[in-house]
Amino acid sequence: MKQRWRLFGQCLFRLIIVGCIALAISGLFNVYYGLGFVIVALLIEVCVHVISGVRMLEWLTGSDVTRIPMDQSELWRKVFDRMYENRKALITNTRRLEEREARYLKTLSAIPEGIVLVKNDWVLSWWNPRAEELFGLRGERHVGRHLLAVIDDRALINYVRGEQYDAPLIWQRPGSNQRIEIRIVVADANNALIVARDVTEQERLHATRRDFVANVSHELRTPLTVLSGFIEMARQGAEINAHIKPQHLDLMRDQAERMQRLVDDLLTLSRLEMSENTQEPERIAMDELVSSILSEMRIVDKGMHSLSGELTPATLVGFKDEIRSAVQNLMTNAVRYTPEGGSVIVSCRTNADGTVQVSVKDNGIGIKEEDIPRLTERFYRVDKSRSRATGGTGLGLAIVKHVLMHHKGQLQIESEAGKGSCFTLRFPGADTNASNR
Ligand code: ADP
Repeated sequence: MKQRWRLFGQCLFRLIIVGCIALAISGLFNVYYGLGFVIVALLIEVCVHVISGVRMLEWLTGSDVTRIPMDQSELWRKVFDRMYENRKALITNTRRLEEREARYLKTLSAIPEGIVLVKNDWVLSWWNPRAEELFGLRGERHVGRHLLAVIDDRALINYVRGEQYDAPLIWQRPGSNQRIEIRIVVADANNALIVARDVTEQERLHATRRDFVANVSHELRTPLTVLSGFIEMARQGAEINAHIKPQHLDLMRDQAERMQRLVDDLLTLSRLEMSENTQEPERIAMDELVSSILSEMRIVDKGMHSLSGELTPATLVGFKDEIRSAVQNLMTNAVRYTPEGGSVIVSCRTNADGTVQVSVKDNGIGIKEEDIPRLTERFYRVDKSRSRATGGTGLGLAIVKHVLMHHKGQLQIESEAGKGSCFTLRFPGADTNASNR
């Protein structure tokens, strides 16, 4: 207020001076000279303000805020000072906002999920590198474009247009096996956030679990049906021929044993998958272990096959029970899938690179090339009826695979349909591997 009156006073003082000089000139000469003086003085004042206005415009449009024109009247100096303060505050605020925005975007960039910011009816405004991978977005090409024009997919279009965002969309990316979970968060009428997550592995695990439960139920159904059939017959007091009775009892025992084997294999597999081993790894003389398994197999096989061993000293560090179970599974399979009279040769040796190798070779039915990659899948069998008839559970090679994973080993399968197979286990040797887990 005080300042306003001071400026007003200065202005009035200048007008009075000009008026006095004009009156003096009118008195000395004539009134026209006086008026001329007033006009010239006013023109000078206008020019001064126009020049200051132009300078202000230049200053406002220039980038250097600090270069304030100095030769100003007090009025303009005050205007410049105030504008300078405002501009400085504006620049500081803008810089702070830019820094904050950069920090937010940096945080969003680091999020493992794909994040896409859309505005004004699904126009793409920003996305993080993960979203770039999941949606195939490219900055220079896609910023400012409509989401559905960039990702032209019916399922996604329906989801976006449906406006029911409570449940996520599991989206199969066109032309790939990738399954992506998409969630949409609407911030306000103009802004929304798309959060995308690759759930391919998760979906695969769900499917595996589903298949596993279905397979186990299927495997248990037959023996259970047989057993409950016989139990029902016994309950109803059905007359059973005396010489059929032992056959029925044998059948019941076989089915119970089948369930027992299945449960045992499932437990072994589950222990292996959960890495549940309370024992310490130990030095294992593989030749001795294989030799003892061979002797046991000979007893079980009752001379139906020629079982021989080519064993040379080999030592590794590992879990004896697991390795025994892997070799036993391979030898049981070799016997199981080799017709009577065939031969099975098991060999054990230390390779030149220090690895320990155990091979089980048979001249049995062999396996077609296309089946080989799937043999270690749980419940995968080439010939289901033969496997079941000979006591197979479909889990043997899955167990072998897990034992090898525990011991950082490898499985090699060579086979030819009708000619025979050779399964080779390769482990790091005792001298190349101090601890296996
Ligand atoms: P199974 O209990 O059915 O033997 P495995 O997991 O041990 O289950 O083996 C999976 C499948 O691999 C078997 O069902 C069989 O078809 C095939 N297989 C395994 N070993 C041999 C072999 N030595 N010769 C021919 N086929 C084999």
